[in-house]
Amino acid sequence: MAVERTLILLKPDALQRGLCGEVLSRLEKRGLQIAGLKMIQLDKAKCDEHYAHLVSKPFYPKLAAFMTSAPVVALVAEGVDAVNVLRAMCGPTNARTALPGTIRGDYSLSTQYNIIHASDSLETAHKEVARFFKKEELHAWKRAMDAFTAADDEKK
Ligand code: UDP
Ligand code: MG
Repeated sequence: MAVERTLILLKPDALQRGLCGEVLSRLEKRGLQIAGLKMIQLDKAKCDEHYAHLVSKPFYPKLAAFMTSAPVVALVAEGVDAVNVLRAMCGPTNARTALPGTIRGDYSLSTQYNIIHASDSLETAHKEVARFFKKEELHAWKRAMDAFTAADDEKK
């Protein structure tokens, strides 16, 4: 399994509810490494680009209003199999069906206000990381405690 980078957005509900630190802390404690981190105010055009697969859906106007209502915290999480690991940590889109222990299952009861975005495939992750981060905003660094993370034995 390869080391991957995936795009995470902590959505405006995470900011409004003061949950950014807790969610970020979960990723760090899991052993994922932060490769990039910043706050971004999405405009309608950027939101349309990010959710291009959803712009024709009836719920999209409300989703766009929500996503542009406050800044998001954007980060790039890095680790072995990071795309799948993050999707599993988020839980399903409809937070009411998300299991306790997942981010959505612990912090949300909503399909729209579900706290977090995570890239849904490695191909999407490549596109989404490039959409939100310039090369110089991404950092490769060696984690001193790497020997104690669960995935260390799989790293080449
Ligand atoms: N969404 C919504 N209503 C729906 C489906 C999705 O408001 O019926 C929102 C929700 O915030 C979701 C986002 O649109 O996270 C993107 O939808 P997607 O199907 O890509 O879900 P995700 O990948 O975030 O689980
Ligand atoms: Mg998605």
